[in-house]
Amino acid sequence: MTTNSANKFRPPIVAVMGHIDHGKTTLLDKIRSAHVALKESGGITQHISSYQTEVKLKNGKSGLITFIDTPGHAAFCAMRTRGADATDIVVLVISATDGVMAQTKECINQIKKANLPVIVALTKFDLDTRQPEMVKGQLVEMDLTPEEYGGQVAVIPVSAKNGTGIEELLDLILLNAEIMELKDESDAPLEAVVVESKLDTTRGPVAAVIVKKGILKLGDQIFAEEITGKVKALLDSNGKNIKEASPGTPVEILGFEKVPCVGARVANHPLEVSSEKIVDVKTVFDPDIPRLNIVIKADVEGTLEALKNSLSDDVNLIYTGVGPVNDNDVIAAKTSHAELFAFNVPVSKTIKNLADNEKVLIFESKIIYEIIEDIQSQVLKMLDPTIEDTIVGEGTIIAEFKIEKVRIAGVKITKGEMTKGDSVHLMRDAKIIKNTQIEGIRQGKEIVEKIKAGHDCGMTFRPYVDFKLGDAIIAYKNSK
Ligand code: GDP
Repeated sequence: MTTNSANKFRPPIVAVMGHIDHGKTTLLDKIRSAHVALKESGGITQHISSYQTEVKLKNGKSGLITFIDTPGHAAFCAMRTRGADATDIVVLVISATDGVMAQTKECINQIKKANLPVIVALTKFDLDTRQPEMVKGQLVEMDLTPEEYGGQVAVIPVSAKNGTGIEELLDLILLNAEIMELKDESDAPLEAVVVESKLDTTRGPVAAVIVKKGILKLGDQIFAEEITGKVKALLDSNGKNIKEASPGTPVEILGFEKVPCVGARVANHPLEVSSEKIVDVKTVFDPDIPRLNIVIKADVEGTLEALKNSLSDDVNLIYTGVGPVNDNDVIAAKTSHAELFAFNVPVSKTIKNLADNEKVLIFESKIIYEIIEDIQSQVLKMLDPTIEDTIVGEGTIIAEFKIEKVRIAGVKITKGEMTKGDSVHLMRDAKIIKNTQIEGIRQGKEIVEKIKAGHDCGMTFRPYVDFKLGDAIIAYKNSK
């Protein structure tokens, strides 16, 4: 076979992005299991943050595709923040039942900024609750007009459950890649990008990278920004040892002296990190919507689900996982300016030291209610950095009464308790509208001092606040 690299094309690198729980992992697993003849790897399911798969379609087309696996969103963001993007095409995963959500919007903003071709995968299409027309309408609003509405964006209904639409999606990826004519630049100097990194207790620093140009070889002297190393081992996405990796290939490198950051560029010579190139993550996310970036680790899937369901819209879930907090969690939190919440999982001393060095905040608790409160109070601090408070109670205004021209709020207490004299935030659409105090509480006709979660009451505030139905009341104690 001739390998005239001037005429060769490299596989497209595809980032799969979307709101959490919309089906990224399931879709990637389905593609992988359907199209990869998984080689024996000692019975260990090797997980690296990206994989390459050879697709053979029923229409006779075939080709290699490299997918950046979850947390693709975090990795993509980190790469963009460092100005070193490896992505050619984005598959934007949107659940056909839930439609465009907070993280979908952020992904769309990033895709637009990076000016990348996008294919929308409308996942969970097997569910009766799907609403494709609603989602397409939302896409029009976001300026990603679907082809059938006269726009440029292909929207493919898929189901990772029964496999519908997956062939069509892969076909379209290959077609896009063909149009883009992605040249294989094997002869160029090495250029790779870190998509995941961790400190392995037995193997030392491990970095999953994607080679963009040149060939990464065993024994190479390498540099990831300020970190140096020598390639001691290269592992492909099946965990198999390989000798070299060509453009488009995802590979794990062993041999760095320290753990490089996600998004760091890798080369055979030291690279200057241009500080102007490192964009603050806040400008990658939608700057108009302040959100608290968080990473959650929990003991089991069940509690993780419960935690995820408790989150408000002003939280941006970077990623979640089950099991002890590891270096990768800390590094991911650092690169995405996130805070780390650990529910009922161990956080070792080494991890705590790493977090201290990397200036990553870790909140730990064995009580689910406490973790939810910690998250909520961090959100409040983000919205109003001047406050240092502990939330003591939360409620919603569900009614309004007037007694002798005084407006009284009918409040349903949803969490904790509230006491006469407590300082409270009046919140609307996740923003603090006003800070005030509880002047009085009435339960039925009785005047009471305190009210607990699960009860309704009439409440007055001083100073006066112009509340509305649906506003939230957050009672807090200033810990300073
Ligand atoms: P991710 O957070 O975007 O990676 O989402 P996951 O892949 O973890 O999927 C979230 C949930 O949706 C899981 O419970 C999946 O089983 C479910 N799910 C994903 N894809 C489909 C699909 O095509 N059909 C149905 N019915 N459920 C799906």
